[in-house]
Amino acid sequence: MLTYQQQNPSAPLLPIGKIICLARTYAKHAAEMHTTPPTEPLLFLKPTSSVIFNHEPIILPPESTAVHHEVELGVVMGKPGRVIDEKKAMDYVYGYLLGIDITARDLQQIAKDHGWPWTIAKGFDTFCPLSPIIPKKNIKDPHALILMLSVNGVVRQHATTKSLLFTIPHIISFISTIMTLQKGDLILTGTPEGVGEIKQGDTLQASLASYTTLEHPVIRNQH
Ligand code: MG
Repeated sequence: MLTYQQQNPSAPLLPIGKIICLARTYAKHAAEMHTTPPTEPLLFLKPTSSVIFNHEPIILPPESTAVHHEVELGVVMGKPGRVIDEKKAMDYVYGYLLGIDITARDLQQIAKDHGWPWTIAKGFDTFCPLSPIIPKKNIKDPHALILMLSVNGVVRQHATTKSLLFTIPHIISFISTIMTLQKGDLILTGTPEGVGEIKQGDTLQASLASYTTLEHPVIRNQH
């Protein structure tokens, strides 16, 4: 069983459930992708087999020649719920984490062109680096956190979660009308502007305010 505990042996045992991701939740990122933001959250899933933890390498697959970083705020669910009222949604949150939604942008573009799902572009092994969980009580306002990502020391993404187009309670409530949210499920809330390519030999560093950081080397797999 894959658990968040693997990052921190003293943390409570919590399985990593389904990983629900949002697309186009920051206006400037939607613009850089030449798209417009949706009126309700646009969802896709990443497999738990794509999860890696701090310092583990991101492996570029031979199927892609344009792998991109997307730094994101993650929300970890603490108890099950279905059709959750927005006003009570934060009661269901266990904590937060820093995640990177690694994306094979060229394969995603092919999928978009054909109207196909994004599963392949988003689902390769090592495409979901996750930090340890920060308990909910430690973060007063998840809507005012600085997300930062740099490649080889050069800042690529630097934005605040204030710019999220949907509130976290709305996101939780919306998802829960479609699928039951379970303890350990993770919501990756989407990336701000500044996404870009990573190459073999790069080092990615990311941070969620002063709460947590990630650092990952990038390597290429030839199969
Ligand atoms: Mg993303």
